[in-house]
Order: sequence, then C-alpha cells, then structure tokens
Amino acid sequence: LLDTFTASNPASRECFDTHARFLPGANSRSVLFYAPFPLTMARGEGAVLWDVDGHRYDDFIAEYTAGVYGHSAPEIRQAVMEAMEGGINLTGHNLREGRLAQLICERFPQVERVRFTNSGTEANLMAITAALRFTGRKRIVVFSGGYHGGVLGFGAQPSPTTVPFDFLVLPYNDAQSLGAAFAREGSEIAAVLVEPMLGASGCIPALPGFLQALRTETEKAGALLIVDEVMTSRLAPHGLAALHGIRPDLTTLGKYIGGGMPFGAFGGRQDIMALFDPRSGPLAHSGTFNNNVVTMAAGHAGLTRLFTPEAAGALAARGTALRERLNARCAQAGVALQFTGVGSVMNAHFADGEILRPEDLEAVDARLRRLFFFHLLARGIYASPRGFIVLSLPLDDEAIARMEDAVEDFLAVHARLLPP
Ligand code: PMP
Repeated sequence: LLDTFTASNPASRECFDTHARFLPGANSRSVLFYAPFPLTMARGEGAVLWDVDGHRYDDFIAEYTAGVYGHSAPEIRQAVMEAMEGGINLTGHNLREGRLAQLICERFPQVERVRFTNSGTEANLMAITAALRFTGRKRIVVFSGGYHGGVLGFGAQPSPTTVPFDFLVLPYNDAQSLGAAFAREGSEIAAVLVEPMLGASGCIPALPGFLQALRTETEKAGALLIVDEVMTSRLAPHGLAALHGIRPDLTTLGKYIGGGMPFGAFGGRQDIMALFDPRSGPLAHSGTFNNNVVTMAAGHAGLTRLFTPEAAGALAARGTALRERLNARCAQAGVALQFTGVGSVMNAHFADGEILRPEDLEAVDARLRRLFFFHLLARGIYASPRGFIVLSLPLDDEAIARMEDAVEDFLAVHARLLPP
C-alpha cells in the first residue's frame, strides 16, 4: 500500500519536499502530517476533494468538523462576497457581529452573552481566564486525553501546555476520582473544563452520569463548569450539553459556527461574561479579527440557511445510523473493530470492549490504524489517520455507501490481521 501511495503521488511528495524548506514539517498544522508525506489538496467542491496529483476523494474529515457546509456552499460564498463588497477590516463595531451573537444565544440557551475569537484555542483560554477572575481561585480541572487547543492538550502526545495555569488532570468518565478531587481540594478549584465527547482522543462520549456529576460537584464547590463544545455543538440541535440536560456556566464554541472561516467563541452566564463589559468589568479581551465581517457573515448564513437546528438533528441521525451499521458489520465479522462517537462524528478503533477513556486504547496496534487509513485512501476515501470520520451536509448517500463498501472490503482483505 505504501509503495503504491508513494508511486501515485509524485506531486504531493514534491510539494512536501519544497514546502519543508520554509515550514518545519511543510505545514502549520501538526494534525495533518502522516508519513511518508501527506497529500496536498488542490481543490474542493461539495464533499469532494482533489489532490495535486488529480485524485478524487470523498471528504470524510470535513476540516475536523469545521467543514459542515462542504467546500462550495453557494449560501456561504454569497454571504462572504456580500460582506467583502461592504468593505474588509472596518475597524469598528459592525452590524454582522450583533446578528451572529443573537443567533448563537438563541441557539444555545446556556449562552446568555457571547464574545468572539479567532479560534477554539483562544476561546478556551478566555473562558479559563474568566473563571480564574470570577472565582478568585487558581486550579483548573481537565481530563486525561482532553484537547482544548494547540496549547491546551492533555493527550498521550501533549501539546506544549506552557500557558501558566494550574491544571489538575483527572481520568475521563470517572465520577469517583472527580468526587475524591473535589472532596480534597474543591475550595481551590476555579473551574472544570471538559469536552462532552473526547474528540481528538478518539470520539469517546461522556457518560451521562459523568457530566451530571461534574455539574453537581462544581455547583457544590462554587467552581464553574466550562463545557468545550468547539467540536460537539454540531452533534445535536442545541449542542451536546443540552442533549445531556446540562447547563454549563461557560461554553466554548468554534469550527463550523464561523461558516468555515477562522472562528471561536466563548459565552455563558451573564454575570460572568460581564467581566468583559468595558463599561464595568475588569477584563479586557481584544483581537484584531474577532469581529471580522467575513466570518460574521459566513457564520450567520450557515446557521440560518443551512445548518438549522433541524438540519443538525438530521445530520446527527445520519451519522448515528452509519455508525450503527458499521458496528453491526464488524460484530458480524467477529473482529475487534468498532466505531465510537456521537451523531455525525465518529472514530474507528481496533479494540473490543467498552471504551470509556483513552487509556482503554493503549494496547491498540497502531499499525492497524495506519493500514486502515491507507486502505481507505487507496479507495478514494479521505478519513483521518487516527480513524476520525466526519459527515458534512453535502456528503451524499453514494459517498456513505462507498465508505461502507471500503470498510467491508477492509474486513475481507485483512481479516487475518485483525484481532478477534
Ligand atoms: N477544543 C476542541 C474540543 C477541539 O476539537 C479543538 C480543535 N480541534 C479546539 C478546542 C481548538 O480549536 P482551534 O483549532 O480552532 O483552535
């Protein structure tokens, strides 16, 4: 497979070698790298990508969930063009930011006030900052395997967590450890920052009781609950916390909500967000591009015209159905391959048994993951090297059928390599 890959992608290889002279790793996003060299994409349309060697791929990564609209939605393009015609970089309050903020507050009821950033990373940094100031405490509880941005990663391959916060890292989905930590030092904890489904660590959903325990413990201790919905807000009409019946104090958002443009947001309780009100609050929050008209316009068009709450529910249902069919097929084949996730976002794992936290995946053979990735690529399916699979609005039933055929084919061709 690797020989075929190398032989059939000379232009991607050339791009990689050339760009590596200027960018360490030839790119600015570590997640996009895989050996021997990653594909360079030339163009996209709908849910289809073409690489620089001219191969066509069904896009099952969808910009790591930000690409819910696909590559060419006319509604998004039109909104962006209109915004540009009105002038770029207006250096002032503008009409579009208020409209998008209103939409977000109406869509996610726990968000009473919201502020925009350029990335999910920044949104989480600001939410943490707010929690520290609001509570006057120092410690932030996070979870092993959690990913909250480039400087806020707690997985096996930690990102440089150089930001000077006092983190306490606990095991995910473990209400007991949580209870013990709060019993021990609850009065020092400013906030808990949690993904309602671990995304980067393999689409591991939170147990309902776990999120409930987080809500109860934080409330009891006077700490804030920050739910990172950067990836998960798309998984249910009003976000994943709402689906669990949980009302966080602060929520962070990102990805598709900016219509595919650079975006992040943090928001929540009015009394906490008032920290950032320049008329009365102590905290400044600036950012040259925070209210840029292009993102504001694209985000508004996407949420009103394409990814309505009904559309979010429907896409989640399609994803759930696909995941269930894939799991049924693997069970039938009697192999240790399963797909975890929620709604339109899932991850393939070569493991049997229940997966509750990333530690349950430590024994998984990374070579199988790699084999699966190159197998899918060879069949024109662009899923992520870690087995991450994402649906987008323009991805049609034929593409989903091609994905299922490719998995079927994998089970047939590599059956003898798979653990029972
Ligand atoms: N939080 C979560 C849960 C994420 O999945 C990501 C991005 N994958 C981020 C935060 C960071 O967002 P960004 O890449 O926009 O900085």
